[in-house]
Amino acid sequence: MNESDNSVPAALGDDVSIGNLTVRYGDTTALRGAHLRIPAGTTTALVGESGSGKSTLALAASRLLPADAQIVSGSVRVGDTDLAALSGPRLREARGGVAAYLAQDASVALNPVLRVGSQIAEVHQVRHGVSRREAARLAENNLADVGIPDPARVARRYPHQLSGGMRQRAVIAIALAFRPRLLIADEPTTALDVTVQADILALIVRLQKQCGLTVLWITHDMSVVAEIADRVAVMYGGRIVEQADALELFESPAHPYTQALLGCFRQGRTAQPKHIVTAIKGSPPVGGVPDGCPFHPRCPHADDSHCRTTLPEPRVLGGGRQAACHHLEFAP
Ligand code: ADP
Repeated sequence: MNESDNSVPAALGDDVSIGNLTVRYGDTTALRGAHLRIPAGTTTALVGESGSGKSTLALAASRLLPADAQIVSGSVRVGDTDLAALSGPRLREARGGVAAYLAQDASVALNPVLRVGSQIAEVHQVRHGVSRREAARLAENNLADVGIPDPARVARRYPHQLSGGMRQRAVIAIALAFRPRLLIADEPTTALDVTVQADILALIVRLQKQCGLTVLWITHDMSVVAEIADRVAVMYGGRIVEQADALELFESPAHPYTQALLGCFRQGRTAQPKHIVTAIKGSPPVGGVPDGCPFHPRCPHADDSHCRTTLPEPRVLGGGRQAACHHLEFAP
């Protein structure tokens, strides 16, 4: 990164606190009172089976939910901005600027008929009010920041003229141009070749450290979690069922679902959704969750008096750990 040009200012990140976030798609409640805390300048990995609500949480937190989705209640605080409460011009300004979203497929984030450099320069012109010439210079710096060799040449290319890995780097360059306080990465390496995946992962980790970014990283790959995460949040049935420092969570998972999830990982299985489903007895909820704890039909500790009737609220366990389970006495 070219420090002297200062295209990426240091310490961008802010504390993030998601409170009681509930999101519906018509009759389907995808998020049910989710709580999540991400300390400034750290990376939290969000894990859980397919359909647990990870992407919905990511899209709600970046205010990019599809038109058929509705934030029913809750807050998404990034510093002192509540993204969930914004509308109109303040919302447009916050998109990208407060929270930037990296999708799995970089192509959807790029305009196919505009040169890559112009797409980055436009952010500098419109968001930061710099001249056209200065914006073009900053765009090339951003491309250099994300490890693109010969940024002046690449800036003149159209998205289809770049490889998948280069396109994802260009999208990260656009995100950096916004100078976001929260970066949300929704499985940003899944669509790439394995070797390119490792490069993009290393790039985001480097930028996170260099710029002090606050990052929410969605993945189903526990080996990625072990590599990148300061903290881990585990989702099940539209709820965050456990969040903790990564080392603590790996060493002593408190929630029975986290224990089962890590059990799959430790048995040497890949944590692909289909493997998790077969490795943990029963199936994740589809099209609605049962009464009580959403995990009770698959939980070895489930009882009639609490688990099948009452939704467990998150309990603070100390050391920044929270878990939502009626039977934390079984936690190590
Ligand atoms: P994950 O990212 O963990 O796979 P999602 O957030 O994609 O989970 O999905 C959570 C729930 O919301 C699922 O039940 C899913 O079927 C539902 N859902 C997601 N997107 C839509 C949509 N556009 N319309 C209706 N239901 C949706």
